[in-house]
Amino acid sequence: MKQLILKPGREKSLLRRHPWVFSGAVARMEGNPESGDTVALRAADGKFLATAAYSPVSQIRARIWSWDEKETMDAGFLRARLRRAMDARERLIPAEAGDALRLVHGESDGLPGVIADRYGEVVVLQLLSAGAERWRAELTQCLRELTGCACVYERSDADVRELEGLPVKCGVLYGELPAAGVQLREHGLSYGVDVAAGHKTGFYLDQRDNRKRIGELARDRDVLNCFCYTGGFTLNALAGGAASVLSVDSSAEAIARAKDNLARNDLDAARAEWQEADVFKQLRVLRDQGRSFELIVLDPPKFAPTAAFAEKAARGYKDINLLALKLLRPGGLLASFSCSGGVSAELFQKILAGAALDAGADASIVGHFAASADHPVLLSFPEGDYLKGLLVRRG
Ligand code: SAH
Repeated sequence: MKQLILKPGREKSLLRRHPWVFSGAVARMEGNPESGDTVALRAADGKFLATAAYSPVSQIRARIWSWDEKETMDAGFLRARLRRAMDARERLIPAEAGDALRLVHGESDGLPGVIADRYGEVVVLQLLSAGAERWRAELTQCLRELTGCACVYERSDADVRELEGLPVKCGVLYGELPAAGVQLREHGLSYGVDVAAGHKTGFYLDQRDNRKRIGELARDRDVLNCFCYTGGFTLNALAGGAASVLSVDSSAEAIARAKDNLARNDLDAARAEWQEADVFKQLRVLRDQGRSFELIVLDPPKFAPTAAFAEKAARGYKDINLLALKLLRPGGLLASFSCSGGVSAELFQKILAGAALDAGADASIVGHFAASADHPVLLSFPEGDYLKGLLVRRG
C-alpha cells in the first residue's frame, strides 16, 4: 500500500478540504510511490484523510483525488468526475453563449491539474500535474466518449509543468485537427483559434460574460481596448454598436488574428483602428496626442503569478489605470481586469483608488467582473479565484 503519512497537526488544511499537501507537511512515505502514483494520505495517528496523486518534485507533494476511502482511482472515477463537470455546466451556461466552453477547471472540478477546453468539435487538454499526467490515456478516452468530439489536442506546455518535473508535451491525442483550422462561436460572433500556439489553450474563455457586458456598454461610444489579443472585446464592442474601437497589443500575431476574426463577422471594419505597441508606452502617446475615450478596457497579462510579486505588479496596474483614467472623458467607463492570483480583489480595488487619486479623477465602482461559470472556484480552494475586474465610472 502506497501512502503518505503527515506530521502531527498537518492534517488541518485537509480537514477543511483544501486539495493540496505541501512537502513540509509530509512525515514519511510508505511503499515507494513514484511520480503520479495514487497514494493514501494519512494523519500522524494513521487515520485516512484522502486519496491523492503523488508528485515527488513539486512543492505541492500531493493533490487530492477523493475524500472517500471507498472510491477507487481508475478510469471509472475520471469518467464520473468529467461527467459531473459537464453536467454542471449544462445547467449554468446557456446554449446562446456559443460552442466554446471550459469543460474541466482543475482542482475546482475535483480533477487537480486537469484543464479541458472545448472549441466546437475540438477538445484541448492541458495536464499540469504529475497525477494528471499519469491518466492522460484514460482522460483522452473518456473526453472523446463523453463529448463525441472529432479531436483531442494536448497543450501541456504551461510553465507550472516544470515545477512538477514534467516535460512540454503538445500534439494530437485523438482524431485530427480540422484542415480549415479550429473555430468557435461566442455570443453570435465567430473566431478562429490557434490551439497549437495561442495563449492558454488558444482563447480566454474566462472572459466570455465580460466580453458580452462590454458589448452592451459600447453603444455609440469611442472605445479603447488595451491588450486586445485576438480581438474578443473589440468584436463585442463593434457588435454592440461602438462608434469606434482602437485596439492595442504588442504582439503582431495577435493583431493579425484579431483582424482576421473581425473579417469573419459582419461588422464595420472602418470603425476599427489597430496599434501594435506596448500599452505602457502607447497610453502616454495617446495622452500626448490629446485623444480621449468613453469606454476603456484594460485586460493585461498576469503581472503577479503569486503574492511574492504583488508589489511589482501593483506598480504596473497603477500605472496603466492612472493613464487610462486620464484618457477617459467625464462619464466614461473603465473596465479594468487583473488575472494575477497574487493580487487579491481587495488589493486591486486599493490600486485603482490610488490611480484615481493620482489622476485627479472622481471615480466610482459601478460593476464587478469575474470569470464565467465554467471556471468555478471551489470555496475550499481560494487559490482558484484569479480573475477579477472592476467597472469604474469617471465622474
Ligand atoms: N482581452 C483578451 C485577452 C488578453 S491577453 C481577450 O479577451 O481575449 C493579454 C494580451 O496582452 C496578449 O495578447 C499579449 O500579447 C498582450 N501584451 C502583453 N504585454 C503587453 C504590453 N506590454 N503591451 C501591449 N500588449 C501586451
